[in-house]
Amino acid sequence: MEKREQLYEGKAKKVFKTDDEDILIVSYKDDATAFNGEKKGTISGKGVINNQMSNLIFKVFEKNGVPTHLVEELSPTDTAVKKVSIVPLEVIIRNVAAGSFSKRLGVPEGKEFKEPTIEFSYKNDELGDPLINAYFAVALELATWEEIETIKKYAFKVNEIAKKIYLDCGLKLIDFKIEFGRYHDQIILADEMSPDTCRLWDVKTNEKMDKDRFRRDLGGVEEAYEEVFSRIKKELGE
Ligand code: ADP
Ligand code: UDP
Repeated sequence: MEKREQLYEGKAKKVFKTDDEDILIVSYKDDATAFNGEKKGTISGKGVINNQMSNLIFKVFEKNGVPTHLVEELSPTDTAVKKVSIVPLEVIIRNVAAGSFSKRLGVPEGKEFKEPTIEFSYKNDELGDPLINAYFAVALELATWEEIETIKKYAFKVNEIAKKIYLDCGLKLIDFKIEFGRYHDQIILADEMSPDTCRLWDVKTNEKMDKDRFRRDLGGVEEAYEEVFSRIKKELGE
């Protein structure tokens, strides 16, 4: 499978057409941004890590009943995926308070929840991805109630599966963001799941092993991504 015309260049990935109109190629970059693009940088080796990590974990989701866009890993940075129409919602699941949740609600980072939470942000860079609820999403025709129910079901399932995998790697899954898309009227998991889109804390030391190292200038960014990848590869790699 070969890349044809570039359709889109995002903050972390490029998206290309292929000869098959149902299939795209996503190409992961080392570019990193935070705070809605205000902070920019490079995390060397990130493209390779996020591509391969995302594919390893998406395969487990598939096996456990969550349909995904994954078709085939083509190279260390490139993957063929089913072309979806993205539901313009960032779906965020949290197991432990951190980041914007802690700020908004005055809850200290690290407080474990009795139950996981779900929230939706409207994917709109100009507006800074504002927090919305399901009624807003339906009112604005971003998704139907039926789609919202499917998204909720898959998102909590992804949480249960990913939480266990990461725990087996000595990492606590604090929170994460996923995206869904429509593929021939079916809702499937799209985009990625990687240290760019998750908060992962080392079980023993509570050290942050994710993009917060970049966001908060904590240093050791590349090393943290490498460490997470090596643990996941040991756990899930063929
Ligand atoms: P952003 O758009 O936020 O800068 P990226 O750099 O990750 O993000 O760009 C990848 C883009 O591709 C995102 O807009 C994402 O919603 C979209 N995307 C991810 N998977 C698919 C897919 N299977 N089909 C179509 N679009 C996808
Ligand atoms: N997240 C993401 N992309 C976004 C916003 C959030 O991948 O555009 C992830 C983020 O890495 C974290 C989770 O979603 O794992 C919750 O993020 P939060 O709302 O706390 O936002 P932040 O602290 O990044 O402002």
